[in-house]
Amino acid sequence: MVDLRDLQLYEMEELMARLGQPKFRAKQIFKWIYKGVTDFDEMNNLPKDLRQLLAEQCDIGRLEVLQVQRSKNDGTRKYLFRLEDGNTIESVFMQYKYGNSICVSSQAGCRMGCRFCASTREGLARDLTPGEILSQLLEAQRDTGEEIRHIVVMGTGEPFDNYENLAAFLHIVNDKNGLNISMRNITVSTCGLVPMIQRFSDDFPQVNLAISLHGTTDQIRGSMMPVNKKYPVDVLLEACRDYTRKTGRRITFEYTMVNGVNDSDEDADRLCRLLRGMLCHVNLIPLNKVSQSGFDTVSRARAKEFQSILENKGIPATVRRELGADIDAACGQLRLGKR
Ligand code: SAH
Repeated sequence: MVDLRDLQLYEMEELMARLGQPKFRAKQIFKWIYKGVTDFDEMNNLPKDLRQLLAEQCDIGRLEVLQVQRSKNDGTRKYLFRLEDGNTIESVFMQYKYGNSICVSSQAGCRMGCRFCASTREGLARDLTPGEILSQLLEAQRDTGEEIRHIVVMGTGEPFDNYENLAAFLHIVNDKNGLNISMRNITVSTCGLVPMIQRFSDDFPQVNLAISLHGTTDQIRGSMMPVNKKYPVDVLLEACRDYTRKTGRRITFEYTMVNGVNDSDEDADRLCRLLRGMLCHVNLIPLNKVSQSGFDTVSRARAKEFQSILENKGIPATVRRELGADIDAACGQLRLGKR
């Protein structure tokens, strides 16, 4: 069975050709799917026999909502979804002044092994299909009744470890016949898979890139993130400079603050030296504590101090707003608790 959520428009057109149908049917079907229709019988501009053929040969998959947590403080909702094979994934819906945003997962689990992160605890179960990444948005729109115009790929998983499906997902959500979400409204976050950063800058020069830096020396970064062995700090930052040269885009560096590991004044100074002259922005994230990780968080006050050191030296920085703090919106925590 072909899951139609996985298809880009040109692939849908190829499918129509295989089914002996005119090309324009693809666009019609595509439009229905991204209006949220999952029943072929509702696609009332298609002839009955085509609807029947589609029902026999194709599928429009859904995610089953296992749990929704609603924040009492803000509009944040956190979802736990069940995939068809029983794996579970998480997404977070957030409301900002500029509009609604969703944080989606790109894999069930993760194999990057960052030591402070709950999502990687049990390793990688599998990659998500383009349709599964996309359905997180569709289901959240369905549940909230709100339109979502911004996407961050910052949930469970390493998006660049699932590059092909990520790429298909980006093309599908961007298609003007479907969701028509601007590339500029999408941010992809990576732990720093350097060859993929290069590829991404060629393929998606308008999508925002966020890099999980978290440490200013190989020793510190390596103690938190195994990926640093393969792509050390200087190699990563060179790739980031290349990225900006090529795309002209500002990079966001995520910096999760861990007490006694990367939060000293010296760390802040080193960070300034590393990033000097780069078109960038630093997003400071006080660690969300994950049980048994052995890592401790920092106070918001300390994060603010760290921020002012950066800003005084001309590096733009913010401390991440705590949306959904009351619902444990930290990465991978809901999913862990469920298995
Ligand atoms: N794999 C991608 C995207 C997923 S994680 C990446 O590494 O960028 C999104 C961000 O949350 C990353 O910067 C990640 O390092 C950070 N993160 C993960 N667990 C965290 C925790 N417990 N507290 C604070 N930040 C965390």
